Amino acid sequence: MTEKACRNCNFITEKSTCPACSGTSLSGDWSGYVVVLEPYLFSLPLELKQELQQKQVSENLREIFKQHRYVLSEQAEIQPINNKEWKILDGKKEYVIKEGNEQLNIYKQYLDPNDSEIAKRLNITLPGKYALRVR
Ligand SMILES: [Zn+2]
Repeated sequence: MTEKACRNCNFITEKSTCPACSGTSLSGDWSGYVVVLEPYLFSLPLELKQELQQKQVSENLREIFKQHRYVLSEQAEIQPINNKEWKILDGKKEYVIKEGNEQLNIYKQYLDPNDSEIAKRLNITLPGKYALRVR
């Protein structure tokens, strides 16, 4: 096994530098992991950025999600990650929105195995494998 886990962010990699945080302290002594996937789903017009900034799950936004067969529930909420990225949390579903040049791109972020309590303690910045314990 040549995979090592980053001691800083737990990202698992075969490289000698962590692709997630650029850390160089990697350990071969790790156990357990979660996989973070982030497949691209669809895009939104850039005009909707304002609604994201106002943390507003509008009818317009709901409608676009629906057109792509994703349903946002009444509990859905928007959380800013930074000024070009947002998260929509909807129960156990999590969507990531990233501003592109001409549109807003939506990705689904989910965890497998479904151990979200542990995953919440990890600082997930990049899709990939994250070790649960690193020594
Ligand atoms: Zn790292």
